[in-house]
Amino acid sequence: MLKLVLLRLIYLLFYLLVIIARKFSKEEIENSKISKIFIHFNNTIVLKRCKDIQASKVSILLPHCIQNYECPLKVTSTIENCKECGRCKVGDILKLQRKYKVKVKVATGGTLARKFLKETKPKLVIAVACERDLIAGIYDAFPMSVYGVFNKKINGPCFNTDLSIKEIESVLEKLK
Ligand code: SF4
Repeated sequence: MLKLVLLRLIYLLFYLLVIIARKFSKEEIENSKISKIFIHFNNTIVLKRCKDIQASKVSILLPHCIQNYECPLKVTSTIENCKECGRCKVGDILKLQRKYKVKVKVATGGTLARKFLKETKPKLVIAVACERDLIAGIYDAFPMSVYGVFNKKINGPCFNTDLSIKEIESVLEKLK
């Protein structure tokens, strides 16, 4: 219990530092140093806590901007609708879903993401998002175990973003 309270305080401190850093930085720095440290700290704790769980108890949450903007397929209902054409990483995530039996949701917003987590009741969430959403999401979800992965804004914010499949698979490989 005491450990959890202490951890909550550390998360609060990090969260405040991220907000302060964001407020006073002159230009928008993608994934600021303090955010990276926070995510690294969080992910280390989460992996320690979750090393004994099965990969099938994992839910992966993705932002909609990961899907290619011109793709007409409705992967927000289910990523099974993806035809794996290779224009975005949704197809690679679908392969991970089949290989590790994880549950995956491409969420268009926080409400849908929360609904998905309520339904799937995962032991571990791997959440992909931009710095702002990821830090806030991990902080809000505490003490739920959420492993954070920054998405890559290779075409600017919220448009045809990218992610590291390698990083996500390395987490799944560490589990049972
Ligand atoms: S990989 Fe899937 S979601 Fe992405 S563009 Fe191709 S069909 Fe659409």
